Amino acid sequence: MNKEGHVTNGALLAVGLGVILAVDPTSGPLVEETPAALALEAGTRVAELSLPVILGALFPDVDTAFGKHRKTLHNLPVLAVFVAFPYVFGNLQFVWVGVATHYVLDVVGSKRGIALFYPLSSQEYDLPTGVATSSKWANPVTFVVTAVELAVLAAVHYYVFALDTSFAEAAALLGLF
Ligand SMILES: [Zn+2]
Repeated sequence: MNKEGHVTNGALLAVGLGVILAVDPTSGPLVEETPAALALEAGTRVAELSLPVILGALFPDVDTAFGKHRKTLHNLPVLAVFVAFPYVFGNLQFVWVGVATHYVLDVVGSKRGIALFYPLSSQEYDLPTGVATSSKWANPVTFVVTAVELAVLAAVHYYVFALDTSFAEAAALLGLF
């Protein structure tokens, strides 16, 4: 996918995820907050997510200039670094969301795959759903991928576990500590 696709995907994902996070999955279908309070909460969440997610969505393609494209910064070890970074250093929260969605869009939405296990393996993984990044289908595919991502995230947030569960809370729930 090209830069335009990744920015569109990151921006729409931040908006959708911000709205999803503003709705408390434990509060049931009847929301006690006033519409104005809910809108303020959603707007704050969207703002909080917007820049980190868009920056994350742009980051992997830095390997067009430094390293091997679709390999050096398009792999799970790089994603793991972005997931761990906030816990270790206390900054760059949410950037991993943008990096993760960049991978999804490259795997699902474009013809060439990415080397998920680089540097262990240079094999590029792809799904047959991809279209050429220059084709007229690039934008529709970007929208569909974003919509599916948001549907999955909402289902997880409402039915499995709240996505804003902190690492400590999640570890406690799993009985790790
Ligand atoms: Zn890419």
